[in-house]
Amino acid sequence: MPGRNFLFVPGPTNVPDRILRAMHRAMEDHRSSAFPEMPMTLFRDLKKVFKTSTGQPFIFPGSGTGAWEAALANTLSPGDRVIAPRYGQFSHLWIELAKRLGIRVDVLEVEWGEGAPVERIEEILTADKQHEIKGVLIVHNETATGVTSDVGAVRRALDNAKHPALLYVDGVSSIASIDFRMDEWRVDLAVTGSQKGFMLPAGLGMLCASQLALSKLDQAKCARAFFDLGDMVRSNATGYFPYTPAVLMLHGLRESLNILLEEGLENVYARHQRLGDGVRAAIRAWGLKLCAKAPKWYSNTVSAIMMPEGINGADVIDVAFRRYDLALGAGLGRMAGKLYRIGHMGDLNELMLLGALSGAEMAMRDVGIPITLGSGVAAAAEHYRSTAAPLPPRPGTPQSPDAQQPASPAGASVGGKQTRAAVKA
Ligand code: PLP
Repeated sequence: MPGRNFLFVPGPTNVPDRILRAMHRAMEDHRSSAFPEMPMTLFRDLKKVFKTSTGQPFIFPGSGTGAWEAALANTLSPGDRVIAPRYGQFSHLWIELAKRLGIRVDVLEVEWGEGAPVERIEEILTADKQHEIKGVLIVHNETATGVTSDVGAVRRALDNAKHPALLYVDGVSSIASIDFRMDEWRVDLAVTGSQKGFMLPAGLGMLCASQLALSKLDQAKCARAFFDLGDMVRSNATGYFPYTPAVLMLHGLRESLNILLEEGLENVYARHQRLGDGVRAAIRAWGLKLCAKAPKWYSNTVSAIMMPEGINGADVIDVAFRRYDLALGAGLGRMAGKLYRIGHMGDLNELMLLGALSGAEMAMRDVGIPITLGSGVAAAAEHYRSTAAPLPPRPGTPQSPDAQQPASPAGASVGGKQTRAAVKA
């Protein structure tokens, strides 16, 4: 098909040209004396993205699933008990992986569309007077349902219960896109991957371990070989890896961190919030519902859109892909067919999203959903123009071109910046 494929699955996300160029290079000797300098900058800058000064980041060739395994296997022993709420396909898969490692998981069933049940967690931890529970597993952003949980509140639950369990957080579709604070929330193991907010191809599993988590390495008896953090701690101290690292991915990660830090993390979060708000305005205009049950759960990186009775979300995805070259995310696990997902994470702007929304509208109409073409696009466009940052004056003219426009209804502050409408008010 001519033109670009519109990639709007919630990972992998679009890889910016800057990152592609940074990765387009000859192979090099990963044992040379020149090699360590670059990885050392990665460890330094990853800490900024995890928002930690005391945690230690690790980069494995692999994916988020590998980082899940590394987090658990290095800090727990077979037979150890953890609690884990299950509210989507990814929390489900992490639970299954933990069970395969021999960990006893007390699963807290939660309706899909809701997030971490903070009060239940606090009650269970408070009742566990013997401190048998060794860990609490939370998926920060459940990519399958478009639900973001309050990790800070889970930390408060642990504190209120005065419980020493480690806090494990899956930040695969939140870290580098949605506010994440490892030190402030005292997260012990934070897990992520390369192909979402980091805007890289799939291929790296990353995690960050607190000093408390690292102190468990010796006593943790789960079998581990490739994912042994002890080997990594020793090699990484000098900028090397205990195996042949994925050097081109590391160069890509270097550029990804440059891009994220140039934009500024707070601006990255605000951009995702604003883009997500526009998508949600479109979904409201279509008269459709999100899987997320309440605004407090709304995800700024992915929206899962419930299908009306009699419509299979897989048909929308199929038509969008084959007819309009638009890739949308499928319903996973028990949500298969019941919804489809639009990813709005990574290297994205308003017009890219408006294109995706218009493709989704056409595909939905094609399969028989009675929406008015343009309705969602118009709602999102109105949100984007009314919340756009004010333009500085054009060189040689005293006024911003915005001053020529009639006042816009919405005026607000986005990410601490004044919006166009706010400036005129
Ligand atoms: N956790 C979440 C929240 C995810 O969205 C995903 C993948 O989409 C994973 C874990 C698994 O990561 P990977 O597919 O990189 O192994």
